[in-house]
Amino acid sequence: MNEYLTLGKFSFGMGDRFGHQGRAQLAACVKATQLGAEFIPVWNKSNREHTFIGTEPASLRTEADAAVQALGWKKPYHVDADHIRLETVDRFIAPSDFFTIDVADSISKPAAAADVKAFVDRHPELIGKVSIPHIDRPFDISCAEVERVANKFLLAVQDAGKIYRHIAKAKGAGNFITEVSMDETDSPQTPPELLVILAALADEKIPLQTIAPKFTGRFNKGVDYVGDVKQFEQEFNDDLAVIAFAIGKYGLPPTLKLSVHSGSDKFSIYEPMRKALKKFDAGVHIKTAGTTWLEELIGLAEAGGDGLEIAKEIYAYAIEHVDEFCAPYASVIDIDKTKLPAASVVNGWSSRQFTDALRHDLKNPAFNPSFRQLLHVSFKVAAKLGSRYLDALKKHEAVIAKNVTENLFERHMKPLLIGTPRNP
Ligand SMILES: [Zn+2]
Repeated sequence: MNEYLTLGKFSFGMGDRFGHQGRAQLAACVKATQLGAEFIPVWNKSNREHTFIGTEPASLRTEADAAVQALGWKKPYHVDADHIRLETVDRFIAPSDFFTIDVADSISKPAAAADVKAFVDRHPELIGKVSIPHIDRPFDISCAEVERVANKFLLAVQDAGKIYRHIAKAKGAGNFITEVSMDETDSPQTPPELLVILAALADEKIPLQTIAPKFTGRFNKGVDYVGDVKQFEQEFNDDLAVIAFAIGKYGLPPTLKLSVHSGSDKFSIYEPMRKALKKFDAGVHIKTAGTTWLEELIGLAEAGGDGLEIAKEIYAYAIEHVDEFCAPYASVIDIDKTKLPAASVVNGWSSRQFTDALRHDLKNPAFNPSFRQLLHVSFKVAAKLGSRYLDALKKHEAVIAKNVTENLFERHMKPLLIGTPRNP
């Protein structure tokens, strides 16, 4: 089947843990589109998030539909079953039309020797000098190297095929967008590895529209990129060249593009990304999630009164459980505990002091990345507060929505597509 649901050139993945910010998030897409920078909204939520919060995947569809209705959004929009696997996908199938198939757990587990041999035999074009337009020096890939990469990734690709076919059987091929993610693993995939992976995904006949590799550098939760920006830029450019090449070579969908699982707020790589996308006339999918939950906290704190009290209460609980909360995220946060203010100190803060510490404004000397990262991983505290938290979201909706929209539009969408004016 050649017809399938396609994803727009630029798309923006938004997570909304508590399901109240759909309209405010969509308002950011509306603003960007009015400026000629069209971002197709995609609401994403992983099985883990649903489990922590106690929600069902259908609730995300309800939220997306309601936001689209309320704002009169006429362009496409999608609901992403984020980081699903065969064991978790079933309850996502009906309400989702975008599936992020996570096969990171199968990386480095060997595929059957016969399958690896068959793959290498099928792809003589990957061996030797491989010239790719816009990459200065051709890749020089030995047969042993193709075998090594196949041994590392073929099982993961076969898993992706199994999960894809499972979804296609239940939902009908063509009725959804397929992403394959390999980002939640230890080492980044190099551009030559990406080429081999794409050849293997094409063999599985997956109509792949986005692929999320792990990039070089650290993608800590809710804070800026940590790593060599120049190296990232090179890798990102080479990945775009590899994708353009693989589309032609292996008949992958022409809409295939990179998906950047940003962990939110990777401001310093937005400018190199924007330049590269322009150079290649390529699209991109940006996935964010926790940045909106932090804007909820900022909005509550800014509202003052009982809003500020709840924000302080969440921090006080979080700092008491810092080790417990941080443990599952060890590879994606870098918290300096000496920089975490005591609860007694924060309890004396004004709205301004709380929002200055939390809001991701790199120019503000009071911004505290450790404070921000701890709160990023502490959304379970808000979930525990239950209706008290949700009632506060409703009561302070206006100030929260303003922060949610402004954050996505000003700090993410604008630098990605429009660029930021140089500082005088
Ligand atoms: Zn991811």
